[in-house]
Amino acid sequence: MITPEPHELADLVRQLHAAGTPWLPAGLASRLSWGPAVQGPVTVVSCRSLNRILDHAVGDFTVTVEAGTPLRELQDALRSKHQWLAIDWPWGSEADGAGAGSIGGLVARGLAGGLCHRYLGVRDQLIGIGLMRADGVAARAGGKVVKNVAGYDLMRLFTGSWGSLGLITELTLRTTPQPPQRLGLLLQGSIEPLDGLRRWLLRSSLTPELIDWWSPALSRQAAREPLNALLLSLASVSAEALADQSVEIQRRAEALALHCQPLDQERLEALRAVALGERGALGETGDQGWLLRLGLLPSHAAALLAERGLRDLPLVLGSGSGLGFAWAPADALPAYRVEELRRLCQKLGGFLTVLEQPSPRALPAWQDAPSRPLIEAVKREFDPKQQLARGRLPGVQARPSPCA
Ligand SMILES: Cc1cc2nc3c(=O)[nH]c(=O)nc-3n(C[C@H](O)[C@H](O)[C@H](O)COP(=O)(O)OP(=O)(O)OC[C@H]3O[C@@H](n4cnc5c(N)ncnc54)[C@H](O)[C@@H]3O)c2cc1C
Repeated sequence: MITPEPHELADLVRQLHAAGTPWLPAGLASRLSWGPAVQGPVTVVSCRSLNRILDHAVGDFTVTVEAGTPLRELQDALRSKHQWLAIDWPWGSEADGAGAGSIGGLVARGLAGGLCHRYLGVRDQLIGIGLMRADGVAARAGGKVVKNVAGYDLMRLFTGSWGSLGLITELTLRTTPQPPQRLGLLLQGSIEPLDGLRRWLLRSSLTPELIDWWSPALSRQAAREPLNALLLSLASVSAEALADQSVEIQRRAEALALHCQPLDQERLEALRAVALGERGALGETGDQGWLLRLGLLPSHAAALLAERGLRDLPLVLGSGSGLGFAWAPADALPAYRVEELRRLCQKLGGFLTVLEQPSPRALPAWQDAPSRPLIEAVKREFDPKQQLARGRLPGVQARPSPCA
């Protein structure tokens, strides 16, 4: 792995371009292997030395940061000014954000957790981006002002690009005031009343920041009754408003004969850490397990959870976004069941991406998107020598490779 100093980066990329060397942009290399195998040999170029917070415009609620800055450091700095980047810790981080990777890696993967229910995804918080193109030319889009829309498409292109289009060097992001107080509710019961409560909540004037579906196996993993559940997080600047919301939801849950457990902030965070794959979630065997990214129409989430075969699979799904994660140790989930689940998600209007799987890799991480020709055309435009992240282009199913 090469870790260039900021002033060495452009020269290095120009040399790689001149020699046609295959390379992979990286942040802190915490999750480099997830997804399709990169067809090697490959030179990994890490942004670890690009790690400065360049400007926190507290009054404007924006922050400009170099791409290799650890997410935990950024959140710590923002917290000292009572702000935060409204995004979950990446799956598999520690509850305090250790191991969360860099802000550039976060944007390059473009994934989000249940908090996107209220705050939307990372691409919606992005207002400016600095890039190093495959030929070593620096480029920039957007700005530091929330209303600036120039370069909008470039920011969207690079969010979720998995290092396939260029190296992200700098980001300007929208920050959010840190709500001083949070309360949680864990509602458990059968799917129909849970879904009724979910629909009522979405139509109500209440504003939870997160409404996540949990499968029975996830409830068990969190030492709760192995039943389907909805985990709610309520956040507000006012303790009174928070208590009122909580009481109203509890009343509704009682009327629907749901079991309702109020959670203080500490208990809420502990449950959230379980749903975000705290250490050991994939088993203690040391074998690589399964980690799956699911998406489907939110109105079909109840149908997915009603599948009997899913009862023993830990699964979390945002009820407003229809996006979530499922995971299992290697020996608990045969590949054919993942294929069945993929077909089911597709039938329900969605997709399944295999982020991690036991080796040898049996399944394609993702299948061809309908827009594959367009994606490949964009790739040729940004990376004409096909040097970056070879074999790993989101929306294009990788051809089998001897290294896979
Ligand atoms: C709720 C949530 C769940 C998530 N779950 C997962 C998950 O299950 N699996 C997962 O892989 N990620 C997940 N992420 C994304 C996660 O944030 C990133 O994987 C993580 O930030 C990686 O950081 P890193 O610096 O270690 O990146 P690395 O591991 O170094 O790289 C990760 C990927 O990003 C690319 N990349 C990194 N930095 C740059 C850059 N500066 N320019 C261009 N490309 C770059 C790499 O090529 C690689 O494809 C999740 C995020 C959230 C919010």
